[in-house]
Amino acid sequence: MNMTPHIEVNTASARAPTGEVKMKARDVSVFYGDKQALFDVSLDVPARAVTALIGPSGCGKSTFLRCINRMNDSIPGAKVSGSIEIDGEDVNDRGLDPVLLRARVGMVFQKPNPFPKSIFENVAYGPRIHGLATSQSELEGVVETSLKRAGLWAEVADRLHQPGTGLSGGQQQRLVIARAIAVHPEVILMDEPCSALDPIATARVEELIDELREEYCIVIVTHSMAQAARVSQVTAFFHLGKLVESGATDEIFTNPRDSRTQDYITGRFG
Ligand code: ADP
Repeated sequence: MNMTPHIEVNTASARAPTGEVKMKARDVSVFYGDKQALFDVSLDVPARAVTALIGPSGCGKSTFLRCINRMNDSIPGAKVSGSIEIDGEDVNDRGLDPVLLRARVGMVFQKPNPFPKSIFENVAYGPRIHGLATSQSELEGVVETSLKRAGLWAEVADRLHQPGTGLSGGQQQRLVIARAIAVHPEVILMDEPCSALDPIATARVEELIDELREEYCIVIVTHSMAQAARVSQVTAFFHLGKLVESGATDEIFTNPRDSRTQDYITGRFG
């Protein structure tokens, strides 16, 4: 079928990375009580790249994301089967401490959620509890580096001891990203990280995501196909709890294999 793509793909970055696989999901199913929300999802997630999860509301994107850092563990009645390996280690291994897992797998939510503490303390908290700094000056160094990496340092250097909640929404989201990277995660999960932000703050966070992919494996849930096309190298399309297809973002947006993907990206449903 002839198709006019609606979505502008960032051709400079939307090609599939050729390097190593960081994460392997195999036959991941999730039930909430009797209701099955995910059906046998298998997906390879590349290192040092952004993988976008797209699909209509309720198709299981967030559910899948929450499997990666075991956040479904805390939902009563939720049952997860299958495996997700990060560098060969199953995140569901009973011997793996969820607190350590969540340091390895950072999470950024839809609504920025800084702690009700100073900007400095927001970033210093993780390195302190994980023993990543042995002195106050080392801790200050980690905070500064993380804020710089998150593109926020210049805006907050002179008010590090003011509350994080006093920042604008976009700054708060970058603060949360600084907090996540301060503990040197391997994977960063982002669940619609820009949906509460204005277009300028969104562009700033998207730029940051693009910079961070050089170092991290990033998985982002987005309801915006335009955003997926701008920031990701790999796109996975979910529908009714199933992973319909995944592949290089430019392929998914210009030449999808499945008619459901095609219908979604051309705006026929969603
Ligand atoms: P998406 O992120 O694609 O919008 P979700 O993963 O949030 O989809 O939801 C997938 C399905 O699982 C939906 O039918 C939703 O209603 C259901 N669901 C999600 N979270 C819960 C929960 N905590 N309890 C019960 N059902 C849930």
